[in-house]
Amino acid sequence: MIVASAIWVERNSRFQVLQSAGSQARTQAKSLAQQASDTFQMADLALISLSRLLGDETPTRSERLAIEKDMAELLLRVPRIRSLAYFEESGWLLATSSRSAAVTNASRTDLFRTLREGTGSRLVVGAPVHDEAAGRWQIVAGHRVTKPDGEFGGMLTATIDSSYFSDFYATFSGSMDGHAALLTSDGITLSRYPYVEDIIGAKVPESPILRALWRGETSGSLQQPSPITGADRLQAFAAVAGQPMVVVFTLPTKAVLAPWHTELVTRLPIVLLLLAVVVGVGLRLAKQAERRQVIEAGLVELSRTDALTGLLNRRDFNETLPHAWSRCREARLPLSLLMIDVDCFKLFNDTYGHQTGDTCLQLVSLAVQDCVSGESHRVIRYGGEEIAVVLPDTSKVRAAEIAETIRQSVVELAIQHATSTVTAVVTVSIGAATEDWKQPRQAPGDLLDDADRALYRAKIGGRNQVVADAGVTGPPPQPSLRVIARN
Ligand code: GH3
Ligand code: MG
Ligand code: MG
Repeated sequence: MIVASAIWVERNSRFQVLQSAGSQARTQAKSLAQQASDTFQMADLALISLSRLLGDETPTRSERLAIEKDMAELLLRVPRIRSLAYFEESGWLLATSSRSAAVTNASRTDLFRTLREGTGSRLVVGAPVHDEAAGRWQIVAGHRVTKPDGEFGGMLTATIDSSYFSDFYATFSGSMDGHAALLTSDGITLSRYPYVEDIIGAKVPESPILRALWRGETSGSLQQPSPITGADRLQAFAAVAGQPMVVVFTLPTKAVLAPWHTELVTRLPIVLLLLAVVVGVGLRLAKQAERRQVIEAGLVELSRTDALTGLLNRRDFNETLPHAWSRCREARLPLSLLMIDVDCFKLFNDTYGHQTGDTCLQLVSLAVQDCVSGESHRVIRYGGEEIAVVLPDTSKVRAAEIAETIRQSVVELAIQHATSTVTAVVTVSIGAATEDWKQPRQAPGDLLDDADRALYRAKIGGRNQVVADAGVTGPPPQPSLRVIARN
């Protein structure tokens, strides 16, 4: 969640930065478009003034000097305009404020043709012309001269240096390395910053901005990679009022996002630190929980363990037997139960003391445990000197065998029992019962009763023997056992 929210916040803030830069760029483009509009309006006014000065009569070549003087005076008031010129209806230059005219016969120019074919007195801007003598690109704007009879009487032109716009755009470039261009709606570059001579007068490829302009949009912004460098950039455009032109203001996205980037670099370590703290605390908690689980599992085990013998205790038996019962019943597997009781143990205690009695119980328990190896087999201290062995998946015969092994193992412990009524060592009696589901008992308690009954029979049968459904086993007929006395 921290990572997701950090990404969300950063994306949002990046979006906001781009949005606000887009809106600023639009404002910028509008200002530049306004300047272009004002400039052409001034050229328009200058040409209107000039045409007023010329009057209705078509000037003759003898009036050239007077016209050129008027032009020079006008230019003093409108410094944005580089030169003014008057071309006769044939296209020949009649008068110009410039010493070296770039064009002496304009009859072949698009501007001249457009004005000759047109009727109004609207200012028409032609394609940029390169003034070879002055070594600069000029934008030529013209007015149609209409004779009193409505016929074409030539054209008046005003030229503006392409670099005039470029110089103005340079002041708007700012720290983000903004680029600006003045284009005709056909995509011809009139001026641009940075100023590149070769591009002036050239046609830019059709772009989303030109298409937006053709659709009638007057301003907008978009983000798109440069077709030349491939670098992502933010572009805003504004149509020039009164002229089929547009100003495009471009900012490199990288520069726009630079402050956001710097902030990101400072914010990122904080997020990572927070993340590290959360992960650290989480891991600690997980470790604590794991430790608690281990402790709890240990406590559960402890609560099921008999403190003296280390065997499972009665609490475990109360669960183990019913559990084994239902599992075996489901799987139709025999379930056997052994009840083991130390013979004459009261006498043992009386003879050797309770502490030795405890040790004896521990040794007997270990011996029993050693005889039981099945994974699901359980040796449980049932109470006092009685041990129960739960044997799932164990037949009558196998249970009797295990019981006999236990009996023998205890004898082989050879724990001296001088007062035993059976023999000189500690012995056990074992009762075994098996549920084979042929005539099933009602409950696990019934199996316990049967094992108890068998144990009782083993006791009255002389002790140190096994009584099982499978038969009775006891010590071999020879009465004397080799006894290894132990203290
Ligand atoms: P039997 O052969 O009929 O089983 O005779 P027994 O003496 O073993 O039977 P009884 O039930 O009369 O005596 C059991 C004795 O086991 C009584 C008790 O003092 C002793 N006992 C029970 N639990 C412990 C124990 O934890 N430690 C010791 N030392 N003795 C125990
Ligand atoms: Mg007993
Ligand atoms: Mg006993």
